[in-house]
Amino acid sequence: MAVYNFSAGPSMFAEEVKLQVQKDFLNYDNSGISIVEMSHRSKWYSEIHAEANALFRELLNIGDDYYVLFLQGGASSQFEAVALNLLNNTKKADYIVTGNFSNKAFQAASRYGDVVAVASSKADNYTYIPDVDKVQYRDNTDYVHITTNNTIFGTHYTKFPKVNNLVGDMSSNIMGEVMDVSKFNLIYAGAQKNMAPSGLTIVAVKKNLVGHAQDICPIMLNYQTQAPADSLYNTPTTFSTYMAMLTFRWLKKFGGVAEIEKQNKYKASMLYNLIDNSKLYKNNIEVNSRSIMNVPFVTTSKELDAKFVKEAEENGIISIKGHKVVGGMRASIYNGMPVEGVKYLAEFMKKFELQNK
Ligand SMILES: *Cc1c(COP(=O)(O)O)cnc(C)c1O
Repeated sequence: MAVYNFSAGPSMFAEEVKLQVQKDFLNYDNSGISIVEMSHRSKWYSEIHAEANALFRELLNIGDDYYVLFLQGGASSQFEAVALNLLNNTKKADYIVTGNFSNKAFQAASRYGDVVAVASSKADNYTYIPDVDKVQYRDNTDYVHITTNNTIFGTHYTKFPKVNNLVGDMSSNIMGEVMDVSKFNLIYAGAQKNMAPSGLTIVAVKKNLVGHAQDICPIMLNYQTQAPADSLYNTPTTFSTYMAMLTFRWLKKFGGVAEIEKQNKYKASMLYNLIDNSKLYKNNIEVNSRSIMNVPFVTTSKELDAKFVKEAEENGIISIKGHKVVGGMRASIYNGMPVEGVKYLAEFMKKFELQNK
């Protein structure tokens, strides 16, 4: 039986990436040692580290005026790192709160300055992205923070605030759709949704913003620690960075972000069309805000949701259960999810609807 993994993260990898890992795990490039055994100062790892960084820049079209840092601690550590590094002038930051992680980022930053949620969709259960052109941004903020894709609620931005100090948490749609990084002063993303196994967090930050952190900023959260050291101040996540490199190679061969965005839109539209034309399934997200990475849906009752999750699993559809704060189901269909996987899910959904009318 085919197994398709709809987990929100860690999530699916392309088969060809996993086959390469299998080979390299026992004997990397005829070195006689495993990829996880080699020193982070070795020639082999140095090449991996450099290639992963270069491919990240190439795929996202990131200019020389940015540092690209390969860090640990997850996107959650960046909630604080961003605040501690960037709240350094007026100590004011505006947040647009559009979901669970977005709210956590806001709460974390609130401890370090004058931080305000200038817009929020919380009152409507985070079912839409506020119109960024109508938000009243404050003057002279150190930055404006958004979460470009809301993993739990299934929303994404289709346009960005027109401000010159934007920061974006791109954890769940980085490389899944085209986003112009030059519109941001800083972006960050945990790797485990679209890039690599968990452990690795990637930050791209304008060079001129590094080196001005608050005095209380821990050494390990200060970008000035890792930037001049090329992210090798301490032991990096060697295995995750290696897998990021393989994923980036695979994505480049696929045609890059613009090309996979087309496929991602196709996959998402297959599910949204099915849901919108069904009497059983419902997606509560405003149509224009719907994510192409995470597709949440419910049936007509909690009992039927539970039955769906159980029977889906029996049919090789794994981790389709929705996040506990929203319930129901959620199909996470990141870059690693092939079109066949979404077709397989769609067929199952149709069959389930016929059997549960
Ligand atoms: C998953 C996720 C996070 C949390 O990432 P960790 O690496 O687990 O800290 C933060 N923001 C968004 C948008 C996410 O999807």
